[in-house]
Amino acid sequence: MSSVSEGTILDVRAIRRDFPILTRQVHGHPLVYLDNAATTQKPQAVIDAELGFYREICSNVHRGVHELSGRATEAFETARGRVRRFLGAADDHEIIFVRGVTEGVNLVAQSWGRANVGPGDEILITAMEHHSNIVPWQMLCQDKGATLKVAPINDAGEVIPEAYAALLGPKTRLVAMVHQSNSLGTVNPVRKMIEMAHVAGALTLVDGAQAVAHRNVDVRDLATDFYVMSGHKVYGPTGIGVLYGRAELLEAMPPWQGGGDMILSVTFERSTYNQVPFKFEAGTPNVAGAIGLGAAIAYLDQVGLELAGAHEAGLLSYATEVLTAIPDLRIIGTAREKASVISFVVDDIHPHDIGTILDGEGIALRTGHHCTQPVMDRFGVAATVRASFAMYNTREEVDALAVGLGKVIEVLG
Ligand code: PMP
Repeated sequence: MSSVSEGTILDVRAIRRDFPILTRQVHGHPLVYLDNAATTQKPQAVIDAELGFYREICSNVHRGVHELSGRATEAFETARGRVRRFLGAADDHEIIFVRGVTEGVNLVAQSWGRANVGPGDEILITAMEHHSNIVPWQMLCQDKGATLKVAPINDAGEVIPEAYAALLGPKTRLVAMVHQSNSLGTVNPVRKMIEMAHVAGALTLVDGAQAVAHRNVDVRDLATDFYVMSGHKVYGPTGIGVLYGRAELLEAMPPWQGGGDMILSVTFERSTYNQVPFKFEAGTPNVAGAIGLGAAIAYLDQVGLELAGAHEAGLLSYATEVLTAIPDLRIIGTAREKASVISFVVDDIHPHDIGTILDGEGIALRTGHHCTQPVMDRFGVAATVRASFAMYNTREEVDALAVGLGKVIEVLG
């Protein structure tokens, strides 16, 4: 791997060389990849780690006595240790491998939720949640006769502190909140929100899907009960993610899915369950994915998340300045604390048309509701165009976006 940071400035050119896909052309243009909130591209180190597993040590984990199984298990558990350090957790047993944020939230809703939420109880979320942090709670509330409460946001896309405080109460069993919004870019004051939830006697779950790629996260400093992340948003593979949970909570929670590896013994009458985290990892896990995620974290450690985050903050303010100068363009999401995402609409032009024309220029960004339909409703739009930045993006790419938007407006405006 090349040297990717030079002192206090990110060496973006060196970073770009680590990502093979960034040299490709799309529709005859150099790829300008600005869809990082949907998924990030993968450095060679991650690709090599996945390939290396299949080429050298492919085997199932935890069950074999042979050499390859031992090596695969060791690599899988090493990856767990890397995630544990990455999130600042106290113990490897608090790190559960799942498919991603979606599965992590569903696990907590179904396991902890079904055991601890009853009629009259409340689950509190915010109005900027991704569907994956709404629907599992809705399903739980419907099943249990509980109520889903929603903390409103202001016109900038920030949770209104007084409204949040007013919604917390003795019936609140859990607060589920996004760390960084994927459609607005808002970074929530989660530490404070967690503290307030705890004072009210509620547990907390933080959706870290977007946050972990842009800032250092320490679950013990946040004092959250649960934290979920997806590997593919942090330069790792798809199909692998992590649920962090405080050990005593995980130990008390019933298993969610039944199957191999999550048991100690099985008879037709009854089964006894394995210890955490294995109790929650039924069946063959995504071994290659976990190893790839471990490699992504090692790569990020080498780059330095703080440097990456600072570079992305520079890109966001540059993009905000450049896009604000475009007539008839309205930015959706103007929170004071914001990172790596710029969502916008242009008067009288459908976001999908903008996306399609920009695609013709090799510019990849996302249009639609971004799995946050309530956010679209809140801002009175059906969809937005969203550019989202990663550490390998450049100001030249922001300029390319502005030029592309100029063309769109010329053609359709
Ligand atoms: N929450 C947020 C804030 C997200 O951006 C996403 C992915 N768009 C998710 C949850 C769901 O993540 P996944 O699809 O990896 O489960």
